[in-house]
Amino acid sequence: MSAGRRPLVAGNWKMHKTPGEAREFCTALAALVGSEPSVDVAVCPPYTALAAAADALAGTSIAVYAQNIHEAASGAHTGDISAPMLLDVGVQGTLVGHSERRAAGDTDDQVALRVRAGIDAGLLVVLCCGESLDTRRAGDTERWVTRQVQSALADVHAADIDRLVIAYEPIWAIGTGETATPAQAQDACATVRAVAAERVDAAALRVLYGGSVNPGNAAELMSQADVDGALVGGASLDPESFAQIVEAAA
Ligand code: PEP
Repeated sequence: MSAGRRPLVAGNWKMHKTPGEAREFCTALAALVGSEPSVDVAVCPPYTALAAAADALAGTSIAVYAQNIHEAASGAHTGDISAPMLLDVGVQGTLVGHSERRAAGDTDDQVALRVRAGIDAGLLVVLCCGESLDTRRAGDTERWVTRQVQSALADVHAADIDRLVIAYEPIWAIGTGETATPAQAQDACATVRAVAAERVDAAALRVLYGGSVNPGNAAELMSQADVDGALVGGASLDPESFAQIVEAAA
């Protein structure tokens, strides 16, 4: 693993936790993880809890990421949030292209624009990609992931490497308790890295695995050669289990 590929463990809270709950969680997590972990750690609260999380984590090494951004900086986009707005409340990164957002209507073109907008604004962008069960059963995983990554990185350049992370998240493993095998995670993350090499120095790119990661399976998944950490959903909602996954990455 190159120096640029410091492990990252990010917790996607989805539509969970109020500002008060976020504050309580972050205070507990900071106590468990310590101030200088050997891995990068981030939480991704819903929009309404971002400011509370950023406030509770100020002075710690734990970052706060959003779960999505709009591609425009401002304008007539009712219900959306822009990257500059997030930066203003202490957010340092954002997910883009999560399968739950794609299922809700986010298109490949929007994902590509949002990757660009997030990087341009100064956020770390965690681009999510991954195939459905039907696609995997059809033997089409590599082609699907290749197309998603090529499309999302269409306007990404070598200089963007420090602001880009890619998370491979097979849809069939998200929230199902069915985790990809370490070999499946490795194969897909290697594909992601190889495709990203068309745009950036992929040897320095962090590629995460996501999909039912928990304290029991995290170490083996993250020990794969092309897996540089984890994007964690359900198991990130409890500070102890999330801290154990961080520990597994260390
Ligand atoms: C996710 O939502 O990104 C995720 C990986 O969820 P879970 O860990 O619950 O499968």
